[in-house]
Amino acid sequence: MSGEKNERILQVRGLTKRFTSKDVCVRALTDVSFDVCRGETIGIVGESGCGKTTLGRCIVRAIEASEGEVIYRALDGQEEDFLKIDKERMRQIRKEIQMIFQDPYSSLDPRMTVVDIISEPIRANYPKMPKREREQLVMDIAQKVGLNTTYLRRYPHAFSGGQRQRIGIARALILKPQLIVCDEAVSALDVSIQAQIINLLKSLQRDMNLTYLFISHDLSVVEHISDKVGVMYLGRMVEFAPTEELFSHPMHPYTEALLSAVPVADPDVRMDRIPLEGEIPNPANPPSGCYFHERCRYCQERCKTEAPALTDVGGGHTVACHRAQELRLSGFDYQKEA
Ligand code: SF4
Repeated sequence: MSGEKNERILQVRGLTKRFTSKDVCVRALTDVSFDVCRGETIGIVGESGCGKTTLGRCIVRAIEASEGEVIYRALDGQEEDFLKIDKERMRQIRKEIQMIFQDPYSSLDPRMTVVDIISEPIRANYPKMPKREREQLVMDIAQKVGLNTTYLRRYPHAFSGGQRQRIGIARALILKPQLIVCDEAVSALDVSIQAQIINLLKSLQRDMNLTYLFISHDLSVVEHISDKVGVMYLGRMVEFAPTEELFSHPMHPYTEALLSAVPVADPDVRMDRIPLEGEIPNPANPPSGCYFHERCRYCQERCKTEAPALTDVGGGHTVACHRAQELRLSGFDYQKEA
């Protein structure tokens, strides 16, 4: 496996996505920037409608971004803006960047056998590969993801939700990618199955030197799997930090409110839930100043007119809040009772 850990493989710069219809322009994504290093997992969290799914889709070019760059370091060592490459180069690089979706059932064609589903990317990219060789690759990857290879000639409906997600993972891995975008990849599964799939993703990451962009609304899942976490609100990245730092010392009031809502299975931990007032504003008509000001309990006059810039506060921690340095917000550490 090529490539060093800590080598930057993805630099997202100023990524913006506008959806325009008739007179309405919705900014689904505004000026999002962050880096991803090889072998790490970046968690992206936020309420539904915050732009996290749009972010993942723009990065893999399932939809086209309106502005910005996604500088990708390919396995052949070339670094280029993935959003600007031509079709032929795109075909090559697509093999290296794969997606795992939320609903394993709707993302698997019910008319295809599992062996055909998993081998589909091979048939599309290497049409001349002999069938025996192709099927051997399917067997190898199926074993790696914990599928019983005896049942691979069956159809997806014969499998449980957890097994179907393993099929989706096998299909994403068969071309030996280096970057996987997991979009709510465990959200549709029972909690016990979620844990199995997360452990599987972690062990595959070690074995195959994979890099994950893990998009989820579930903070406890994200905490468990991520090295760094980005928090999104109304299409903007409002905070980004190493996971432990973000959970113990959040600096954005929105992150604090999200953390306070995470259930904790420890009776010694007191959770003071911070209610988020109101709904997420309409992205077609966002509030002035700080997008979060109508729901923020620390809002001051300045927040209503002046948008806070994402500011580096050291240690890989960035935050977009005028009052980030002065507020001493509660993370999980502070909530432990003496
Ligand atoms: Fe709240 Fe003001 Fe910070 Fe926005 S800038 S999160 S309104 S304190």
